[in-house]
Amino acid sequence: MNAVTPMMAQYQEIKAQYKDALLFYRMGDFYEMFFDDAVAASAALDIALTKRGKHDGDDIPMCGVPVHSAEGYLLTLIRKGFRVAVCEQMESPAEAKKRGGKSVVKRDVVRLVTPGTLTEESLLEARRHNYLAALSNVRDAWALSWCDISTGVFHVMSLSQARIGAELARLAPSEVLVSDAVDEILREVLGDLGILPTVLGRASFDSTGSEARLCGLFGVASLDAFGRFERVEVSAMGALVDYLDITQKGKLPLLQPPRQDQVTRLMQIDAATRRNLELTHALNGGRAGSLLSVIDRTVTSGGARLLERRLSSPSRELSVVLARQGAVAWCLSSVDVSLFLRESLKRVPDLDRALSRLGLDRGGPRDLVAVRIALEQAERIAGRLDGEDLPEHLAHACKDLGGHHALVTLLGDALNAEPPLLVRDGGFIAEGYDAALDEARTLRDEGRSVIARMQAEYAALAGVSGLKIKHNNVLGYFIETTATHAEKMLSSPLSETFIHRQTTANQVRFTTVELSEIETKILNAGGEAIEIEKRLYDGLKGSILERAAEISLTALALAEFDLACGMADLAAAQDWCRPVVDESRAFDIEGGRHPVVERALAAQGGAPFIANDCDLSPESDAAAVQLLTGPNMAGKSTYLRQNALIALLAQMGGYVPASSAHIGLVSQIFSRVGASDDLARGRSTFMVEMVETAAILNLADDRALVILDEIGRGTATYDGLSIAWATLEHLHEVNRVRGLFATHYHELTVLAGKLPGVSNATVAVKEWDGEVIFLHEVRPGAADRSYGVQVAQLAGLPASVIKRARHVLEQLEKGEREKVSPKALIDDLPLFSVMAREPAPAPKAASSDVEDRLATLSPDEMTPREALQALYDLKGLL
Ligand code: ADP
Repeated sequence: MNAVTPMMAQYQEIKAQYKDALLFYRMGDFYEMFFDDAVAASAALDIALTKRGKHDGDDIPMCGVPVHSAEGYLLTLIRKGFRVAVCEQMESPAEAKKRGGKSVVKRDVVRLVTPGTLTEESLLEARRHNYLAALSNVRDAWALSWCDISTGVFHVMSLSQARIGAELARLAPSEVLVSDAVDEILREVLGDLGILPTVLGRASFDSTGSEARLCGLFGVASLDAFGRFERVEVSAMGALVDYLDITQKGKLPLLQPPRQDQVTRLMQIDAATRRNLELTHALNGGRAGSLLSVIDRTVTSGGARLLERRLSSPSRELSVVLARQGAVAWCLSSVDVSLFLRESLKRVPDLDRALSRLGLDRGGPRDLVAVRIALEQAERIAGRLDGEDLPEHLAHACKDLGGHHALVTLLGDALNAEPPLLVRDGGFIAEGYDAALDEARTLRDEGRSVIARMQAEYAALAGVSGLKIKHNNVLGYFIETTATHAEKMLSSPLSETFIHRQTTANQVRFTTVELSEIETKILNAGGEAIEIEKRLYDGLKGSILERAAEISLTALALAEFDLACGMADLAAAQDWCRPVVDESRAFDIEGGRHPVVERALAAQGGAPFIANDCDLSPESDAAAVQLLTGPNMAGKSTYLRQNALIALLAQMGGYVPASSAHIGLVSQIFSRVGASDDLARGRSTFMVEMVETAAILNLADDRALVILDEIGRGTATYDGLSIAWATLEHLHEVNRVRGLFATHYHELTVLAGKLPGVSNATVAVKEWDGEVIFLHEVRPGAADRSYGVQVAQLAGLPASVIKRARHVLEQLEKGEREKVSPKALIDDLPLFSVMAREPAPAPKAASSDVEDRLATLSPDEMTPREALQALYDLKGLL
């Protein structure tokens, strides 16, 4: 009895080709999973695990999800790291039967769903890209290619192996393809970024095969049409396309021709710096609290994605920066037009993604309507901008907005405003667009009104006023009446007209010859109408896809306008300024602010953010490196980061949170801001810090901006101080960077006197009644003390510990003044426990309060809760 059923044999054959994916095996209205897939999926989806038949004598585990709600389940599975092969029935059961007695319905995988190849709205985040990347290497050369099939962008870039981590951090792809020859170092880089690569065979990366694949995809004889690509670049692009072919089963998405990017055209920001500066994600991984969340005022998904792209990749080309700035400036000065633009843009649906779904044949009537609305708005905007004196950047975008008049008219005439999701539901083509469709619909609708008439006639004939004609999917149209009234209809003469079909608990159902005839007519006409709509849908889709390239350009142009308006809105609302960016080495910020901290303070409604200047311009005789001292919590990290963020915002082409800013192009930003232990990988804070510092010292050039927070603090004082000292000297003398350096080693401040390019600054505090008050004001000079004990007190360390720490500090400071060695001093300090037993030096009243209260307590009579409360009370008396 171990014979495998034909269906199971088919299942196993298909499953064998998709070993690393869950197989969604279509059976009627369900996708079923079997064996290990079923066990894994039922746990991941929290659905029932059942069984079906036996295999090798054991039950076959099974679970299933309904087809109509499969998207939700797919989303959960993809988020949990699964890949899903969707296997459909390729013929109807009737067709299978025709082929012979026991034939199983033909099935085949139509798509492999993976994180990097999603297109469904419900599976994607509207305001984020969803990149699929491929990493290739040919001898010593490396290339990275990436695309977003939901929008069609396609890029490639040659890079050194050392830059792979930084570039992947910039793009944050959902999936990364590597060849099976991938080495350990690369695995480690990917692991650090939390990326589990998808491994492909070497053939996918073969550059000759890749070239042929790419030429085929774009219908060109040679790739030279798009640029001069390195072999390794062709290999990376080819692997991407091969993977799309595998996952989409030959239905290739609409990709734009590949764009060749160069690392050197962008400001370089490594993965750690990106994380530290919380550009697109806060340190806790969420979007809230990131710079992006604070600056995003775009109103379209395309605009939001463009903003994320710009923020992740600030430019280091002056002309690019200035052109983008010009666009923001124009929006700021043309208030009326900007208002019109934003109002129009708000109505623009996600054009890129609608287009990509249509291209992959996964779209529906709503995507047609989305394209229509977006293009209509684009035409309107182009009309309004006609005659405006646009800056170059926007003038260029504006050219791409129009030219869709004929298509907009066609779609406008053809489509209803609120169509159904699926083509097969019909009803999306407007009345009057197609005569044959109108005729079929009339027939169908007339049939329906005939039925309404028949109901009245039958009610009169049977003398049953409650008689109804209803419809369901099993019986079609039927006459229904209650069991009591049915009696006479079941007997002559009425039974000659009413043919019994079904008896349910309370109802009896009939049909009549006439009703069946009308039903067939309605069905035929309805079916005909749907067929016509399907044909028309394909025609309209074809008209859109013919213009796919132009529509993509329009989508990008709309995003450019949205971004420029959004940045202008932000600048106006938050009082940001247009930075002067040039080729100098200036870095001069007046009244700079940290946009995220400022927003947080405003939300709390407390103290305002204190703006601070920062001048690191060597040309204006300012020191290029500033050494910042001051207590914890004074605002050092905030100051360091805000200056890095201002440089970054300036070079993405935006305005900046300052009253004025002059920035000579920055090539790289490096930051080391408070490391955390990387225990999972067995690295201490100190090790992480040193690895990152080494990278900065080795890579920073004379256009780099470096911010270092508390370097060397993870080790013993003298070690740390020496490392900090040497690092600072190297950055100043050899790397010649512009930089901000926060430290607790006050000893370092003497460097300002020794090195011409180093100056001291401190974040001011006031001491009041033994407590510190933070002024958050950066001033020239060095901090006099650290106020560590006061900060510890603010943090809620027990009063006894604070008291003790003050005492130790006083002794140490006294010793320093009197030149006593710290060791002798420490030997002299009485031990804490001894001190505690001595009569307390604290005010007497407090102790006696505690004693008085203690005397009143009778522990035997107290509940644990009361005891705990008493303990709190006692502590409050200290
Ligand atoms: P540090 O690095 O010196 O320990 P932080 O930069 O972390 O201090 O700042 C501590 C807190 O002080 C911040 O969370 C913020 O609330 C506040 N703060 C920092 N800078 C400013 C400022 N310029 N104006 C107002 N508040 C500030």
